[in-house]
Parts: sequence; structure tokens; C-alpha cells
Amino acid sequence: MPVAYDYGHERQDARKVPTIRDELLLIDGARVRSLSGRSFKSLNPATEQVIATIAEGNEADVDRAVAAARRAFEGPWRTMRAAERGHILMRWAELLKRHADEIVALESLDAGKPISGVLRQDFPAAVDTLTYYAGWADKISGDVVSTRDDALTYTVREPVGVVAAIVPWNFPLMIGMWKLAPALACGCTIVMKPAELTSLSALRIAELALEAGLPKGVLNIVTGPGRVVGDALVNHPDVDKVTFTGSPGVGRGIMKGAAGNFKRVSLELGGKSANVIFDDANLEAAAKAAAAGIFFNAGQVCSAGSRVLVQEKVYDEVVERLVARAEALRVGDPADRATALGPVISEKQMRSILDYVEIGKKEGAQLATGGERVGDRGYFIRPTVFANVAHEMRVSQEEIFGPVVSVIKFKDEADALRIANGTAYSLAAGVWSADIGRVQRFAKKARAGTVWINTYGYTDVRLPWGGERDSGLGREHGTAALDNFTEPKAVWMNLNG
Ligand code: NAD
Repeated sequence: MPVAYDYGHERQDARKVPTIRDELLLIDGARVRSLSGRSFKSLNPATEQVIATIAEGNEADVDRAVAAARRAFEGPWRTMRAAERGHILMRWAELLKRHADEIVALESLDAGKPISGVLRQDFPAAVDTLTYYAGWADKISGDVVSTRDDALTYTVREPVGVVAAIVPWNFPLMIGMWKLAPALACGCTIVMKPAELTSLSALRIAELALEAGLPKGVLNIVTGPGRVVGDALVNHPDVDKVTFTGSPGVGRGIMKGAAGNFKRVSLELGGKSANVIFDDANLEAAAKAAAAGIFFNAGQVCSAGSRVLVQEKVYDEVVERLVARAEALRVGDPADRATALGPVISEKQMRSILDYVEIGKKEGAQLATGGERVGDRGYFIRPTVFANVAHEMRVSQEEIFGPVVSVIKFKDEADALRIANGTAYSLAAGVWSADIGRVQRFAKKARAGTVWINTYGYTDVRLPWGGERDSGLGREHGTAALDNFTEPKAVWMNLNG
């Protein structure tokens, strides 16, 4: 399949084509080389071409960045009026909007994301997150609490300090902002480590933050491998909090590492979310949402509806509809606005997904469509539907993180709940039915941080987001994120003193 980039297309302004240059770390307000002088290459997953050379940070770079973040925390950021912090974040959001074309194109190029998806989801959600928390900066308050007659007792909320933000490659800009915006609004300073596969948007938006007036050292970016830069952050004695999105395996290691100085930890990990379709549902709407729920971002979504549970009477019809939708999706050049699926992020991820296809076939699942690579350049995979999947199969239990859906048959409500709740994960679930009692019973009993009823996949920064067990620890978004980045302090004042 030919994959060609033409940034002069449609309304893309050719002058705003991202200039991919040698990317340096950002520490204490300046772009700097890594102390080792080493760098690594970043590929465009659609073409396998090198698009950037990026400085490879190490433990010593992390030390520099943490020291800068500590100075900024004790200095300008913490002491600044809260309203002024909010104004800076708002100016940053304005700058992001002014540079929208460039940032959208950069994210699409670096992560292989269809530009239509970045325009519809990643970019507006990142800006919305930033403006939402900019508004919170001067509204974080404590309480006056009645205790004794001779005392004034109240709480204040204080920023936790220096935050390490470790970010994955599936939504680098949006998930990055889920961490940056609330931490900054609360008065924390940050060392951020983007995923090594997708470092570019973080570096660019951090430059714009400086332009918006963010004092030096408040936001530092150290690029490089997780097991070096991420590990050094997690184990650093002067980091107060780690906020992480990624795999459960790395999440477990982070909890252990953070125990050294009892860092606060929040983790957003994987999922194997069930999208449950009862036989009285609007099947057209359910199948459309089920396809979008698994194939958006080529299935590389923590809340992807990777298990579609269908009641036996309508099972064949839903499989048919899903297959038709999968086959109609256009796979190809992410820069083309008609593209629905771009490549997956890397050759390793592609091989892992294709291995799962083989595992599913061996387990006896029926490959109804897809299951193969598209072309021989770029990491494209055809949207894949497995039918006749049994709950116990690995393709039903393990997160594949690709465009592969397992369609599972169920008998009744109890059976649907048993299967939906029967994995190690608990991030999200969907339910489709015309029976309001049934959907409410499901919503109550579903083991999930988010339940969608007769819809699937929406997120909004105003609502809490996260899960338990292998899906993570704590919640992001809304006021939950303010709790993540502040600690309450109790103050007693003797009124007779
Ligand atoms: P990962 O967990 O290895 O990487 C996520 C981030 O953690 C990256 O920035 C990485 O550099 C960093 N990291 C890696 N090792 C680290 C360590 N020892 N200490 C600290 N930080 C470290 O995930 P991945 O390899 O990018 O993807 C693998 C799987 O993770 C996927 O297949 C998927 O299941 C899951 N994942 C989930 C999400 C999500 O949104 N929940 C996002 C990306 C990946």
C-alpha cells in the first residue's frame, strides 16, 4: 500500500509542517543535550522512516531535571498567586490552539494516528483538559471544620511537590495533558518522561508552555528509555509523586520503586473491557459503537471494547454487522482524512498483535475477518474480528492492544455479568438494551470505573477516569485529580492564646 505524506493537503497549512530536528531534553527552561551525548531514533510507524533523533537521557539527566523542578517548586511556582498560575495555563491553551495544525500533524506523524482522530479527539481533549484545570487553579480550597469552642480549626490543600509523569505512546498529547494540567494547576512542578516511541509532541508543547510564561524548571522533559529514565524517576528520593499510564507490569514495578520514600502513586493501566449487547438492543447503533469502540486508534486504547458480548438470539447478526463494518474501514495513510485506521505503533507491537491472532486460531476461535498485516511497509493490521470466542481463551482474557475484537456469546443477564467481570481488569464496560432496569442492574454490578449505557467510549475530563486491579490505582480527571496532586493540612489555632 502506498503511504505518502503531503502536508500541503486539504486545509493543512504547508508553512506549519512540523520541522523534525534533533530533539534535546528540556531542563530548567532550556533545551539541552543529554549528559551522555547519546541519542535514539524515532520512526514514523506508517513509513518506518526515521523522523527525528532524540536525546537519550539517563540517571544524571534525571537528577538535573528533578533539582530544577525542586527549585521551581520551592520558588516561583509555589509562591505565585494561584490566579496567575491559572492565567499562564490559559495562555498556554491559547498558544496550543494557535499552533493546532502543527501539533496535530506532529502527533499524527509520530504516533501514526489518523489525522481525523487527532483533530476529533486527541487535540481538543488536550486543550479542554488544560482549560478545565486552568480554571481550577484559583479554586482549590480547604474547609473550616468545627471541633472545639476554643479553637479555630481548618484545612488547607498543599501541592504534593515534584511530580514524575510517565506517559505512554497511544495518546501522547492527551494523556500527557491529563497529568500536566492538574499537577500544574495544583502548584506542583513536573519531570515528564514521554514514551520513547512518541516524544515529539511533549517537547513541542513544553516549549509553548515556556512561551506562555511558565517559569523555568516548572516543566522539564527527559526523553529516553523507560527502564533508565522512568526507573530513575520512580526511585528518585526527591520525587514526591508518580503518575503513570501504561502496562500493568511496569505499574507493579513503579509501586515497588515508589515505596523507597513512600511516593504517592496513581496508575492508569490496561483493560479488557466488555461491550455487552442484549437481544432487545438497537443492533445498528450497538454494532456501530462496538466497531468504533475497538477499531478507534487501531485498538490501542486502554478502554477499547475488545470483548463484545452478544446474547445468543442476535449473536450471528451482530457478528455479521461487525464484520461488515470492519471490512468497510479504510486502513492507510494517517495524513489522509478518510483514513480510519493508521498503523500500530511499532514492529514489536505489530508482531505481538499478530501472535495473538495465531493464539486465537489455535485456541479454536473463528477468524471472521482480518488477522493479517496490510502491505509490507509500515505497521498496518487489518481490523480483525474473532467469533465463537470462549470466555476462558487468552484472546478473551489478555489485553491485545490492537485492532482485534473477540465476540463472545452469552445466555442471560447473569451470564453476561459473569463474563464481563471475569478478567483481571476493571476499567470500563458498555451495555446495550432497551430495558432500563436491566441496564441499571448491569451498571451497578459491573466491575468497572466507567459504564456506558447504550453508548460506548466517551470520556470527559469532568468525570473520574480509572480502574482497579490490573487497570490501575486511583482516578484521573475531575476533582479526583486535584486530590492526586494536593495533600490536606490540618491547622489548629488556640483562640484563648
Ligand atoms: P509500558 O508500560 O512499557 O510503557 C509506558 C511508559 O512507561 C513509557 O513511557 C515507558 O518508557 C515507561 N517505562 C517502561 N519501563 C519503565 C520502568 N521500568 N520504569 C518506569 N517507566 C517505565 O508500555 P508499552 O511497552 O509502551 O506498551 C505495552 C503494553 O502496555 C501495551 O500493549 C498495553 O497493554 C499497555 N499500555 C496501556 C496503555 C494505557 O493507556 N493504559 C498505554 C500504553 C500501553
